[in-house]
Amino acid sequence: MHYTITLLPGDGIGPEIIAEARKVLEVVTRHSGHSITFQEGLIGGIAIDERGNPLPDETLEMCRRSDAVLLAAVGGPRWSDPRAEVRPEQGLLKIRKELGLFANLRPVRVIPALISSSPLRPEVVEGVDLVIVRELTGGLYFGQPQGREQTPEGRGAVDTLRYNEREIERLMRVAFNLARGRRRKLTSVDKANVLATSRLWREVAHEVASDYPDVAYEDVLVDACAMYLIRRPADFDVIATENMFGDILSDEASMLTGSLGMLPSASLGENRPALFEPIHGSAPDIAGKGIANPLATILSAAMLLRLGLGLDREADIVERAAEAVLAAGHRTADLAAPGQPTVSTRAMGDLVVEACEKEFANA
Ligand code: NAD
Repeated sequence: MHYTITLLPGDGIGPEIIAEARKVLEVVTRHSGHSITFQEGLIGGIAIDERGNPLPDETLEMCRRSDAVLLAAVGGPRWSDPRAEVRPEQGLLKIRKELGLFANLRPVRVIPALISSSPLRPEVVEGVDLVIVRELTGGLYFGQPQGREQTPEGRGAVDTLRYNEREIERLMRVAFNLARGRRRKLTSVDKANVLATSRLWREVAHEVASDYPDVAYEDVLVDACAMYLIRRPADFDVIATENMFGDILSDEASMLTGSLGMLPSASLGENRPALFEPIHGSAPDIAGKGIANPLATILSAAMLLRLGLGLDREADIVERAAEAVLAAGHRTADLAAPGQPTVSTRAMGDLVVEACEKEFANA
């Protein structure tokens, strides 16, 4: 098969880490018999500088014409003036909306070699392997009306929380299908004891659940879920929830591993292309130093292979390779214990490429 992948390096450490992910995708193509054409587009601060627009039309068109999109990160102090009308993050919101990316998947897996990086006790986080499926284009972040208003009591403001059954159903189907390929357990998170949208969420979730009798289903209230994620995180398999609950719970869950530089994500719509990106930002404090951890972007590339292109075997190989490099003791600065030797961004990419070569040779 031949695929076209759009790379969006963005700002800060973006160009450094995406170069390493590209090397890994290239080694996959050399060994798998598939070929990939890469194209690069502008997004974020650099796109503002060069085109006056955080998501130029040409970038969007390039993405639409590709099979999958790999994004690094956008933003930085140069573009963070709160009075600025044009901001890098607008590019991010726009690309999600334009590509109809309604489901955000964030896997959180505690890698045995990094268990000591977690702020929680090893016996609590051991075996954690969960995915949060967050609704990304509805709910409180998009509902209208939204804004300021004058009230008899002075300044007021309003946000609107609205969901319809189509938005809930399509998100739940993504989550159930994902659970089927995993441990077949799904937790739907809501606040049905208080919110009307959550009661609709629960009703529709139950209807969808009846199509998946092979998946163990449970409802959990969001406040309880926040607690269980710390108390017994290894019990979860797939967690499905609406936009704002997912925003908060996925950040909480990502901290179970303690290492921001390790966590990938995928945003899926009904059609191709899907978008894959690390969960961290553009890390301007270390940009240009060659010390950023490229693994979250490399693991995002693995998700791209699996969920974007349907290449499960190749995705497994990249994930196993990254884990083997860590198990062998190699660490970028963000992962290293005090006094432990570190490798550069590029050296980490080379090590993963080498480990992939070995995996392919043994496969
Ligand atoms: P950040 O994730 O960029 O950085 C937080 C801390 O983690 C920093 O100390 C950074 O050096 C470190 N870090 C992050 N990724 C790392 C990596 N791969 N390797 C080693 N260390 C890493 O968050 P921030 O500092 O709050 O934000 C910086 C900029 O990124 C801001 O402009 C913000 O708006 C933007 N941002 C973008 C995205 C995105 O593009 N999806 C997400 C979050 C933040």
